[in-house]
Amino acid sequence: MQAGEPLIELAQVRKRYNVGQPSEVEVLHGVSLALRTREFAALIGPSGSGKSTLLNVLGLLEPMTSGSYRLQGREVAGLADDALTRMRQRTLGFVFQFHHLLPAFSALENVTLPVLAAEGRVPAQQLTRARELLAAVGLSAAMDKRPAQLSGGMQQRVAIARALVLQPALVLADEPTGNLDTATSDEVFTLLRRIHHERGTSFIVVTHDPRLAARCDRVIELVDGQVARDEAVPTAA
Ligand code: ADP
Ligand code: MG
Repeated sequence: MQAGEPLIELAQVRKRYNVGQPSEVEVLHGVSLALRTREFAALIGPSGSGKSTLLNVLGLLEPMTSGSYRLQGREVAGLADDALTRMRQRTLGFVFQFHHLLPAFSALENVTLPVLAAEGRVPAQQLTRARELLAAVGLSAAMDKRPAQLSGGMQQRVAIARALVLQPALVLADEPTGNLDTATSDEVFTLLRRIHHERGTSFIVVTHDPRLAARCDRVIELVDGQVARDEAVPTAA
């Protein structure tokens, strides 16, 4: 799929934790990165290299310490929390290693939670979209089930539908198959690729699995908080 408009432009982004304390530590040492719409990239690297930190900065969940981050052309440095929240809700979806579904709610209710958080209610049109997304991830028959009644792979598919309900331009996925067996992991990954293909959603997927990285269009490797490699995968599927 052909890449489109600039979506993410990071320039010399540094991230320090515990600034001003004896435990101050710099985790990202000047990361520069550009991603366009309709890209599907893997983010790989050793444990502790800063992958989750980078995803949290990209996801507007953690402020960067210095540098520039333009999301859809807009600089995010210095924006107030409510502006960041609106930007996050309008533009980004998240999938984590552990699904973080709310146990007391049905699959359908879990998928509509971002709508409730963003709009304070769930309009009929959004409820319809949530049902369509659950159908698209193969869960038509499980909409009224609670997470505990679903398998691990099904739970992660609910989490994927939830990430898509506000129609994000970019989904940030932090080891989305890290908690699944190989076969289920392959299925969930195939689903992400299909969503990318059908909807044109961009993805950055953190993975430890070289087989999955090889199925992405582009591989970005972080080592010690710096981009050590960033290249296209010629034979992505
Ligand atoms: P990865 O996801 O690649 O395993 P992380 O981004 O989770 O790496 O962590 C990178 C480094 O930053 C690690 O050394 C980790 O201990 C440190 N780190 C992560 N989060 C925090 C935090 N909230 N406070 C202090 N250090 C942190
Ligand atoms: Mg991590």
